[in-house]
Amino acid sequence: MTEGATIEALSPAPSASASASAIAILAEPASRGRPRLTRVRRRGPLLRPARGEAGRGGLFGIDLTAGCALDCAFCYVRGTPRYPGPGRLLFDPRVVEAIGPAIDAMEAPPRRVVLSPSSDPLPPVREVRRATLRIVEELLGRGIEVVLMTRGRVTRDVAGLLGSAPGLSRAAVGVATLRRSLSRALEPMAPPGLRRLRGIATLLEAGVPVEVRLEPLIAGLTDARENLLPLLRELGRIGVQDVLAHYAFLQPAFLPTLRAALEPIGHAERLADLYEGGPVFSLGELGATKHLPLASRREGLARILSWGAEAGLLVRTGPGQNPDLPRLGGDPPPAPPAAADRPRPARAGSSSRFGTPAGAGSGTGLPPG
Ligand code: SF4
Repeated sequence: MTEGATIEALSPAPSASASASAIAILAEPASRGRPRLTRVRRRGPLLRPARGEAGRGGLFGIDLTAGCALDCAFCYVRGTPRYPGPGRLLFDPRVVEAIGPAIDAMEAPPRRVVLSPSSDPLPPVREVRRATLRIVEELLGRGIEVVLMTRGRVTRDVAGLLGSAPGLSRAAVGVATLRRSLSRALEPMAPPGLRRLRGIATLLEAGVPVEVRLEPLIAGLTDARENLLPLLRELGRIGVQDVLAHYAFLQPAFLPTLRAALEPIGHAERLADLYEGGPVFSLGELGATKHLPLASRREGLARILSWGAEAGLLVRTGPGQNPDLPRLGGDPPPAPPAAADRPRPARAGSSSRFGTPAGAGSGTGLPPG
């Protein structure tokens, strides 16, 4: 335990507030490496309401750690106030005991809790994984829906726990490649794609609805046919029927790490060229984010839709990260019945079948808070 340290008290990284002109490939050095776990005393609410809801819709998020052990090169969390700085992973073990009283103290219990908006709930850190399982158990035991969003390793105990509460639990798994070399470059601490697919299969076998997110789509790299078609085929083979696809946006906070990751594979300069002239949107607390030019995004997504069809999968995207692009691939298919006594439609603007904000969680899109 670090005396006096609190998750909230640590110097936050500045929020992104860059203007369009400031969003360019930066030349600052990147800082990478497996974050070191520091036990801290946590302050502030455990559960954060989804952005714009102030808890009214009952959708909340919880992060067990500040920082993420997976340290992906494209992670937007670096640009949020919750990022504790490079190489840091802050964790309060008492969160497990605190969750029950925290819910009891709320005016109304959450309807749905997303783990985790700004971290991964299944990092390669036993203590954190154990805490995740206990918190999920507590939430499900109270009849609260759980959406577990991860790029981490899904083991049988995780799938078994989620599967023990049909209608209450769902999972969303991010994966963009089966290629070890790409995975090592972009998400070196995450399990390889094939391993994540095994996790998806285990979840499906346990009866857990899974939303697969093809994220990040990096133009000219992970969006290439030779990368995606084998992945889509493999997903179809294990029983996945539809996937959600989003192109990566650029944001100053993670550009240095992304650039450093792409340089050895010769893609850093090309990426800068591909985003040249792309629109800038303000995305929640991230501030200004730069996107691939509309024509490139539209063409790329159309190609991916057709490859999905080739593999027998429906590929969807939505306005959450593409405010200038109509929904492609149709409306989200209905999620399996959940908490039948409290039905809710998907959130406006969400392309997620689980009604979570588009791209929510696990650092590839918008956090709910
Ligand atoms: S993208 Fe997700 S898994 Fe990767 S570092 Fe960010 S929060 Fe963690």
